[in-house]
Amino acid sequence: MSRVLVVEDEMNLARGLQYNLEAEGHSVTVAGDGERALELLLHPSGQFDVVVLDVMLPGKDGFTVVSELRAARQYVPVLMLTARGRPEDVLKGFASGADDYLPKPFELAILLARLQGLLRRSQWMRAQPAPAPQDPVGPNVGEFETFSFRDRDIDFGKLELRVYGNTIHLTLMETQLLRHLVQNDGKVVSRKSILEEVWGLHEDTDTRAIDNFIVRLRRYIEDDPSNPQHLLTVRGVGYRFVAHPQNSES
Ligand code: CA
Repeated sequence: MSRVLVVEDEMNLARGLQYNLEAEGHSVTVAGDGERALELLLHPSGQFDVVVLDVMLPGKDGFTVVSELRAARQYVPVLMLTARGRPEDVLKGFASGADDYLPKPFELAILLARLQGLLRRSQWMRAQPAPAPQDPVGPNVGEFETFSFRDRDIDFGKLELRVYGNTIHLTLMETQLLRHLVQNDGKVVSRKSILEEVWGLHEDTDTRAIDNFIVRLRRYIEDDPSNPQHLLTVRGVGYRFVAHPQNSES
């Protein structure tokens, strides 16, 4: 049984979700606005396994809620419900720290599948350091579980990055973007391939919001984010990760 927090002000929808999630065996709490959601999530006893978070809420909206959560070092997986036809909201959601999204209106079966995906990933992470390598639906770690370069260690399973001994917690999406870049070490990765392979987006989306993610990752891994050595911009195309730049060995 998983503990699910549903944050939605449309009570018919919230209760419908609660009914269906409970029928699937989950324990469900409903919050009608962002303030209440933060209260529950930031309370020491507020232990949820996954959050369904609507973007459109009275008072603090979904973007604000997820950014405040992450700022408070709360890394519970968040599935954001966005308005269909507003792809910019998807990227804004990811930039705020959401882990996955679903446009409204959605089919219940799809919502349940997405939640299962997030729950599996969080259970898998909690099970560290004993991941089940045979689990076919575990996180897509690829051939890397950890990756180290120049006093930086990325732990893809734990969603952690250690830089000079300091631990930085990453969201699932930050981790997946970093992994995609690392797996293509030295190669140019286009914004389009990031959208498709990291975010699973196939529509024509404004790719500039990816740049916000890159800015964040640079703040984490670069000594001087304004003069990046590892996460390079390839003008007009995308990005290139370089683990060991040759011209700047110290
Ligand atoms: Ca709403």
